[in-house]
Amino acid sequence: MPYAYDPQNIFARILRGEIPNKTVLETEHTLAFHDIAPQAPLHVLVIPKGAYVNHAHFARDASAEELVDFNRAVARICTDLGLGDDPDNFRVISNAGVHGGQEVPHYHLHLVAGRPLGRMLE
Ligand code: IMP
Repeated sequence: MPYAYDPQNIFARILRGEIPNKTVLETEHTLAFHDIAPQAPLHVLVIPKGAYVNHAHFARDASAEELVDFNRAVARICTDLGLGDDPDNFRVISNAGVHGGQEVPHYHLHLVAGRPLGRMLE
């Protein structure tokens, strides 16, 4: 692994069952749970079970099976929550590093919905 992964980060501890979470979906390679400080009526975090720090690491190093599992989990949550059929209704974000505003150094995707989210890149 060409990057440092802190096995004590909070999401690693959630994956080991050391900290409780409100699970939305669990698959072989992926866990999704409610954010503890939601920024919208729906704010779900989707994380791979593997030890990846950010999106670039995950996209580069994860197996095809993990990548498909993760992305299908996102799609399934959208469908289960009634978001999938309307592409205007949600946002996915992944922060990376200091400039990206990442607090927890285990790759995660934020899935937010339930209010007008405005434009992001202005
Ligand atoms: P980041 O800034 O992209 O790394 O986002 C980290 C997210 O993890 C924040 O939205 C936090 O509210 C969330 N978070 C931190 N600790 C926990 C927890 O124990 N359970 C669920 N979400 C958490």
